[in-house]
Order: sequence, then structure tokens, then C-alpha cells
Amino acid sequence: MINFDYIRMQSVKSTVKALAKFTDAKMIAGGSNLIDLMKRNVTAPTKLIDINLLPLKYIEQSKEGLRIGALALNSQAADHEIVKNKFPLLAMAINAGASPQLRNMASFGGNMMQRTRCTYFYDTSMPCNKREPNSGCGALNGINRMHAIFGANDNCIAVNPSDMNVALIALDAQVVLLNAKKERKMAFADFHKLAEDTPNLDNHLQSNEMIVEILIPENNFSKNSYYVKVRDRNSYAFALVSVAAGLELEGKTIKNARLAMGGVAHKPWRLYDAENYLQGKEINTETFKEAAKIAMKGAKGYGHNDFKLDLAPASILEALMKAAHLS
Ligand code: SF4
Repeated sequence: MINFDYIRMQSVKSTVKALAKFTDAKMIAGGSNLIDLMKRNVTAPTKLIDINLLPLKYIEQSKEGLRIGALALNSQAADHEIVKNKFPLLAMAINAGASPQLRNMASFGGNMMQRTRCTYFYDTSMPCNKREPNSGCGALNGINRMHAIFGANDNCIAVNPSDMNVALIALDAQVVLLNAKKERKMAFADFHKLAEDTPNLDNHLQSNEMIVEILIPENNFSKNSYYVKVRDRNSYAFALVSVAAGLELEGKTIKNARLAMGGVAHKPWRLYDAENYLQGKEINTETFKEAAKIAMKGAKGYGHNDFKLDLAPASILEALMKAAHLS
């Protein structure tokens, strides 16, 4: 770890000013990923901007939906009455992630920004295009059982590790970003990116911007939501595959469906084609199996992770069956 400066901000305004001035600064809130990255020399910011005192810990209902400040804690949201009652998919996904101690430290903004858990990324003796552009990808011909089956290329086959992100993309969340001059709002689905030619970048946040809040619009999925997470052990493990499913039903007919996966792509992976197929269909095993088949179009394994090609559709089926209360 190298020496770094540390400053504690008192306001959002002073934070975005500092971000504009110090281009290689990193913001720190819970630090549950950043400190690991710094200890292992994966990242070496010369300045840390502590944002824990900013008034962004709120979780509140508004006309537009649920507003969650970037510093709201994951545990705070998962225990919040509005989240549990109206957005249970989010509570389920958060509670599937990490450990209680980490959820007590991890903020929404930090969880959105957490970096891949690819072991080659954390091992500075190995090539990794994400850590060091143009150095190669250790995982491509290495141990890649945790890696992507959708949207990857040979530059990087890492996956986004967050459970929370899978629920947020399924729920059509939006993100409010701010720099010293202006605010912008973007669909959560557009926040993270595929590796493409710039695997060193995980998302579209600019270096002079901060995440201010996440907005989740009202929905009718609360009675029929489910989050499936398949992992190597039952707690404190990242997803091999996860699925967020939400159904809006009229009797047995699907009026609207939401499906997203985690552990399968460089970004949380929304299954739009499968959602479109489900709309207007009756809930039953055959319909859900067909949706899973559609969802898997374009999937590709890299050797050690070939098992995900079977695990993913089975997990989609399980999530849909549980969301529809058919199993
Ligand atoms: Fe690095 Fe991505 Fe390859 Fe992992 S998969 S070694 S993060 S380039």
C-alpha cells in the first residue's frame, strides 16, 4: 500500500468540487471493497475522499418511487419496512449478499461500485486487462469457473459480483449522478458496462462524478418476487449464478415480468427477451422452461464454467416457480 492523503467531506457540494480537482482521488464510504484493493496494490489512489458525513443515508418514499441515498447501508435497506413490503426482491437480494457485518458497512453507492472478484484481478503477479490494460487475461485459459457466460470477449470474462445490482436492474431503477456543474439521471441498466475494449472500466461513472441516489419506481411485483442465489457455500460467498424474478399476475396470467441474472456477465444481466415471452402467458412449468431457454440464447462457457450453461436455466426456472408460488 502506498501513502495517501485523506480528507473528510462535510457536504455534497464540497465533495464534487474535490472530485473535479483531484482526478485520481477515490471516494470511500464503508470501504468494504476499496480497502482490500488498496492492501493488495490492485489500486493505489493518492487521495481518499471520505463521504460518510454527507446527508445521503435516507430511504424514503416519493412521488417517483423509492429514493435511496447513496450512503444508505445495505442492512438498513433490507430491514426497512417499505423495502420489505413493496420491494421484497431488493431485500432478498441484499440479504443474499456478503455477511451481516459487511451489510452493516456496505453502502448502496459502494455496492454499485464494487469490483469483480476474479482472483487474477487481485493477484498482481498475474496478467489482467482490468487491472493493467493490455497485459492479457489470466482467467481466459486459467481457472474460470466463476466467470461470465454472457456478453464477454477475450479481453475480460469477469463478472459483476453484486447481488443488490441484480435486483436493482430487474426493478428498473435509475441512478442520479452529480458533478460540480450538473446532475444527470441514467437507467441503472446503463450504469454498468460490458468489458468490450475497455475492461479496466466497470461502469459509466465519470471521475468527477458521484452517485447521489438510486430511484426505484413503484411496481406490482411485491407479491410474486423471488431471488435465487447458487453459490459454493450457503453464506458469505459470491454467486455462481443468481436470478431475480418478479411477476405481475392477473389470475394465472402474467401481465408483466422482470428477470435478471447475476454471476453471468460483466454487468448485471437483464433477460429482456425472456420477459417479453412471458408477457400474456399462463404460469406453469412449461412456460417457465421455455423462458429459461430463451434467456440462454448466446450463452458461452469458457471451460471450467461450462456447468453454468445448465445451472443458469435451472436457476431461472426455480426463481420463476418460486415467484409464482408454484413450488
Ligand atoms: Fe482480469 Fe477480467 Fe481476465 Fe479476470 S477476467 S483476469 S478481471 S481481464
